[in-house]
This record gives sequence, C-alpha cells and structure tokens, in this order.
Amino acid sequence: MASVTLKNVVKRYDDVTAVDDMNLDIKDGEFVCLVGPSGCGKSTTMETIAGLTIPTEGSVHIGNREVTNLPPKDRGISMVFQNIALFPHMDVYDNISFGLRLRNTPKDEIDKRVQMASDVVQLEGMLDRMPDEMSGGQRQRVAIARAIVREPDVFLMDEPLANLDAKLRVHMRTELQRLHKELDTTIIYVTHDQAEAMTMSDRIAVIDSGELQQIDPPLVCYNEPANLFVAGFIGSPSMNFVPGVVTATGFTSDNDKIEIDFDPASLGVTPDQRVTVGIRPEDVYPAEQADELANPTKPIPVTTDVLEPMGDEIFVYLLTDKDAEVDLEDPNAAGQLLMSVEPDSPISEDQEMEVVLDRSKIHLFDTETEQALQHGIVDLGGDAATTTEAESDD
Ligand code: ADP
Repeated sequence: MASVTLKNVVKRYDDVTAVDDMNLDIKDGEFVCLVGPSGCGKSTTMETIAGLTIPTEGSVHIGNREVTNLPPKDRGISMVFQNIALFPHMDVYDNISFGLRLRNTPKDEIDKRVQMASDVVQLEGMLDRMPDEMSGGQRQRVAIARAIVREPDVFLMDEPLANLDAKLRVHMRTELQRLHKELDTTIIYVTHDQAEAMTMSDRIAVIDSGELQQIDPPLVCYNEPANLFVAGFIGSPSMNFVPGVVTATGFTSDNDKIEIDFDPASLGVTPDQRVTVGIRPEDVYPAEQADELANPTKPIPVTTDVLEPMGDEIFVYLLTDKDAEVDLEDPNAAGQLLMSVEPDSPISEDQEMEVVLDRSKIHLFDTETEQALQHGIVDLGGDAATTTEAESDD
C-alpha cells in the first residue's frame, strides 16, 4: 500500500495542455476514480503516475519516494487497461504467473500467489483454460489477477471495463469493490462513466480540460458540486440549470417564469448579479406534493412536453414557457425543466400543471465564474418569510 501525490503536474504536447497544474493527494489504501469527458486528461494523468509519460512540470510521489523520472517497473505499481492482452498460447495459470516467472520467483511462491489472486477474482477451476475458451469478463479477471500477483503498492486501472457488456460491467464493479476491500490496496481508476465512479470510489476526482475540478466522496460531489461543470457531469440525468439574475428579493429566471425568494445579502450575492439555479430532476415535484416538503418554493406553472417512462420512474420534460421555441442546443430557451416522478403518477403530455422545487436542494452558481455559491436555500428569508412580511404589510 502507498499514497500517491501529484504536485503541480503539467503535461504539454506541442500546443495541447493535456494536464494543467494537477495537484492530487491520494491516501494509502484509497479507491479514487479519475472521471471526466473524453479528452479531459484522465489517461495522461494516469500515465504520469504509471511512468509511461514524464510530466513537463511538477512531480509525482508514491509513498515516501519521488518517482517522477523512474521507469514504470520501479514504481511498485500494477496496471490494468481497457485492451487486455493475454498471451493466446498460454493457459490462465501461465498468463497470471508470467511476470513472476520472468523474475525467477520460486515455484512454491508462484503457486501460492496465483492461488490467492485467482481466488480473489473467482477464477478457481479455470487455471488450465486457454484465453479463447473464456468470456470477455473472465479474460478481464485474468488480467486483474495478473496485476494482483505482483503485489503492487498501487493498482492503476484505465477503463478496464469499457469493452464489457452493460450487465457484466455492473457485475465487475462489485467485484472490484470486493477486491479493494480484500487487498486493501490503493486503487486509481480512470473512467468517463460517472455512474461507475459514483458506485465504486472512496473519492472522485472530476477533471475537465486538464484541470482538477473537485476531489471529494461521491455524495459530496453529488450534493455539493463545486461548480457548474461538476454539477452537470455527476448525476444522470443531469441537473437542470436555470439562468437568471439576482433581484432585491431573490432570483428571477431569464424567461421571468421562475422566481425564488431569498434575502440576497444572506447568500452573499448582490442584485443584478448573474446566477444560475441548479436543481436535480428528483427535486422537482408536482405542486400537490408541496405539503410533503419542508421547504417548497412557490408553485411554478408549467406545461408537460415529453414523457419518458423508465419503469421505476417517469422523466417528465416540462416547459415553463410553452410559447417559446424549443431549442435542442439550448434547453433553457423554452425554460425546459426535467422532473422525475413516481411510475404511477397521473401525468400526460401537453398538460398544464404546477410544480415546486425543494428549496433545500437548490444550488446557486455564479454564472460568470461558474463556481457554486450556495447549496440549499432554506432559512434565508425564503418564501415563507416573504409571505409573512407581505402579510404584516397589509
Ligand atoms: P482522456 O483520457 O481524458 O480521454 P487524454 O489524457 O487521453 O484524455 O488526452 C488529453 C488531451 O491530450 C487530448 O486533447 C489528447 O488529444 C492529448 N494527447 C494525449 N496524448 C497525446 C500525445 N501523445 N500527443 C499529443 N497529444 C496527446
């Protein structure tokens, strides 16, 4: 086991900055996923840890050692990649033990380690199989076992499940979690699939354009995203974003259809400041359910557009301004809002209705800097307080 630290790592290829001033501090025994869209620099970051790439600037540390210029074999790491290359003419035992045999490890020791590794990935009874007699998932497990027998301090895995079908991928996620628990080894795992990152990691490092956006436990990234990028990337379907402006009494959306009351000073925002409200589909409710919420907003009139029944829930696309043109490039133009409701909800297409937002789940972002300003708008001079003030004015 070992910690992994990147200090101010930069990797430039001609005019492309693949990794831009990356600082990562991965603890001993931690399972960290590097996640982000294709081309954001995940693999390059991993390659600098593996020693397959030397950073242009900055340093890489594994345990107490600086390894920036050390070759991969001297770093105490094992790698598993998307494209597994098993030796086709060797059986599973020989594939798993190949590296150990190269290093002249005693036969007894090889036997012991192959047994342990094949137990961990559940390949018992398959040690004499040839690769072409195995499924994709089984071959991937051989690749993982081959990494395990080297008893590395750190496992590096770059999209190891990408080539597997959806069902097997979900199964292998559970296996990798179990593997982590059993081996107690540091695992750094690259994926573009936020669901994979959410389910497996102790912490997620969200990367965009070569820059680290946030590194936190999955639920912190989900509930307290640091900025608009993380908010939009983590969670499926994505968070709704409503652009608008701060007024003297709260927020008004650009299409004037959504108002949220709060005291700007209590949130540290000022009237006329451009802000974006973020709300996840599961935090939008039909107004009839407002009673069930401790902190609902005022009802928002909407028209239902398209329904997507998913079995365990229905995604309802709402338009806050049904007369505006729907622009697929810019869902905000027509005030599109996605709501997730119970599968038996009596909702049809083109229906006029009212919805409320759960104020405790509203996120506020500065539109210009894209940074989060507030998560949850409650007890801050909200709708209830405003109503009281209005009543006392009467
Ligand atoms: P990801 O793994 O997130 O898909 P990569 O780390 O592979 O992203 O790539 C990050 C950026 O660096 C991309 O723009 C990619 O084109 C560029 N890049 C990666 N490797 C090289 C290379 N060897 N030469 C030139 N550009 C590269």
